[in-house]
Amino acid sequence: MGDIRTFGVVGSGIIGAGWAARALAAGLDVLAYDPESGAEHRLRKKIDQIWPVLERTGLFPDASRDRLTFCDSLEEVAVGSQFIQESAPERIDLKVKLHSQIDAAASKDTIIASSTSGLLPTEFQAQCVHPGRVIVGHPFNPVYLLPLVEVLGGERTSAGSLDAAVAFYQRIGMYPLRVRSEVPGFLSDRLQEALWREILHLVNDDVATPAELDAAIAYGPGLRWALWGACQIFHLAAQPGGMGQFLKHFDPALFPWTKLEPPQITEALAQKMHEGCETLAGDLSIDEMEQVRDDALIGIIESLQKRNLGAGKVFNDHQHRIRTAKEAKR
Ligand code: NAD
Repeated sequence: MGDIRTFGVVGSGIIGAGWAARALAAGLDVLAYDPESGAEHRLRKKIDQIWPVLERTGLFPDASRDRLTFCDSLEEVAVGSQFIQESAPERIDLKVKLHSQIDAAASKDTIIASSTSGLLPTEFQAQCVHPGRVIVGHPFNPVYLLPLVEVLGGERTSAGSLDAAVAFYQRIGMYPLRVRSEVPGFLSDRLQEALWREILHLVNDDVATPAELDAAIAYGPGLRWALWGACQIFHLAAQPGGMGQFLKHFDPALFPWTKLEPPQITEALAQKMHEGCETLAGDLSIDEMEQVRDDALIGIIESLQKRNLGAGKVFNDHQHRIRTAKEAKR
């Protein structure tokens, strides 16, 4: 794999725009393609909104919004990029077709990564002539702030491509988590799905509203998850025995509280969920909510940075890389 100078964005919606912003902040050139009318305007507007956040968290020397080029075709992105991140809608037929088109046009050394939330890379390789460079790099919204990216290969992915992808994601300030088995939903979305399923049941059964369920996370478990995740937090919850003692107290087989099957998404349930969230948002528009979220996330990250803990360590390491790059330029 050669040096990655140009990052290709295929699909510039919420996730694709986040990738474009992160890559520009890392001092890369970005080529983007999205067939929807007005996509270029929306992408540039989104990056303008995000840029002040990136200025706060750190820009590489030469990082510039002017280094974004919006292309007329998928092939233009594929030919001109050394790393391509596909972030099109979550439809297997579309993603298989896009992978085969990108594979046909891109140099065989170019890595093709998909942002898919849970589809499998082996399926994306089906129609590729060079499947060894096809991987999944699953990010989290907002991509320009949250460092986690889950990285996994399919049956025909080469170990070299996975290593190169991990190194590249680190270079742009991320925490690549290698997922060792090709399982649907990977790791994080499996966990999020379990929570999401219970939220839908509790609203469907009229046990709680979206506001009550958000309070049940935001004022309690959500605050502590940012430090260590669920396992270490539970380890602290039963002293002095730690996790071993905790499992004796809370064996889920003794308390079968949750339901494994999701509820049917009826019109009534969708309406209750949507109205509940609109009530929670109050007068804030989506853009305003994003600004509040980003500002608060930076506050949490800065607090973790002071302790070099969790995601704070990833930001400390990245900001060190930026300082070193700036000194090398002097
Ligand atoms: P989105 O709908 O916001 O963006 C998708 C974009 O793809 C749109 O702009 C659309 O015009 C474009 N598109 C449609 N057809 C295309 C084509 N043929 N070629 C190129 N672009 C095309 O969706 P999103 O939320 O950004 O999700 C994109 C991917 O990222 C999905 O696979 C999704 O599962 C995954 N993902 C989403 C989230 C999230 O929180 N939204 C998080 C992680 C991963």
